[in-house]
Amino acid sequence: MTDCIFCKIVRGEIPAKKIYEDEDVLAFHDIRPIAPVHFLVIPKTHIPSMAELQPEHEATMGKVMLAASKLAREQGSTDGYRTIINTGRVGLQEVYHLHVHVVGGPDVLPAMLKR
Ligand code: AMP
Ligand code: ZN
Repeated sequence: MTDCIFCKIVRGEIPAKKIYEDEDVLAFHDIRPIAPVHFLVIPKTHIPSMAELQPEHEATMGKVMLAASKLAREQGSTDGYRTIINTGRVGLQEVYHLHVHVVGGPDVLPAMLKR
């Protein structure tokens, strides 16, 4: 996907504050952080959203989640954090390249959604 902003980050065409990279996974700090810890973990392959996940993505998404867990610890979120995946129109997804937000304190985060 040539126009996808996160694919451009994967290809090194636009800068990002990378915190981890391997052959399948990339993690970088969110450009507009909403908490002291706020980074994104993405598959390097272009998957538009959770809605497009296929069985062949199983191993890659496992690696994405394991990286999120390890990096959250390394970024100092040893007392918890929130992982968020926004999907589609209803989920207010802005960037259509699947990404896991990891958002952490040190303070307790606001309630997830208002009832
Ligand atoms: P969403 O698709 O709603 O989950 O949100 C996309 C997230 O990507 C937002 O939190 C943005 O701040 C973040 N974002 C957009 N462009 C960049 C970029 N070039 N580098 C890092 N984060 C970005
Ligand atoms: Zn992409």
